Amino acid sequence: MIITIDGAIATGKSTIAKKLARSIGFIYFDTGAMYRCLTYGILKNKIDAENAEQLSAFLENFHFEIKIKHGERHYFVDGEDITDAIRGTAVTANVSRIAAMKPVREKLVLIQREFAKGVNAVFEGRDMGTIVFPDAEVKVYLTGKPEVRALRRYEEFKAKYPEEYKDLTYEQTLEDINNRDRIDSTRDLSPLRQAEGACLIDTSDLQIDEIITRIQEFKDTRKTRFPAE
Ligand code: C5P
Repeated sequence: MIITIDGAIATGKSTIAKKLARSIGFIYFDTGAMYRCLTYGILKNKIDAENAEQLSAFLENFHFEIKIKHGERHYFVDGEDITDAIRGTAVTANVSRIAAMKPVREKLVLIQREFAKGVNAVFEGRDMGTIVFPDAEVKVYLTGKPEVRALRRYEEFKAKYPEEYKDLTYEQTLEDINNRDRIDSTRDLSPLRQAEGACLIDTSDLQIDEIITRIQEFKDTRKTRFPAE
């Protein structure tokens, strides 16, 4: 069974997907991290993403690996652990531009569908329920007030990456969130939107456990509709 969780930045997708997956014994995939790994590779190799030939040669050879270390996911490109680097300012400033490109999306969608073969998994991202897994049995769409999401993201970055984000302000975080949300939801390919049949949850004023309970209840109602699952 595939469960998809889509939504805007800092709606709690990763935390919720991770916790939900653990509680029901599913594996979990953060597809934003995949777009970030690819963006990291483009920046590191100084690829001109607007140059079709350069981009296609890069994509042909691009690989990333996911390894679990002390229970946490780590992302590797060319043997380098880039788990922290992909959350840094350079990748964050470029990822939405790179993610809007057709060859980039085609490459990652293939990989995501490959990961999904024969497993029970929660996939979180922007287009999981709409494009990548339109037949997923359970789809969730998360929203939240921009001010709440910005504060959440600001506090998270300050706590996790104090050095990298030492100059970051709340106002900049809000601006970045609004800017990336705008690019993600207005792009031509796979724009961020609620999939048909998705359970809509506004996470602004809810605790993580309440959200997980709602998703589990929604999943149970789907089971009644599709008893073969
Ligand atoms: O989830 P996260 O904020 O780490 O994702 C980084 C960026 O990757 C998003 O802003 C979006 O541009 C892109 N993305 C995407 N499709 C996905 C997941 C992420 O376009 N399925």
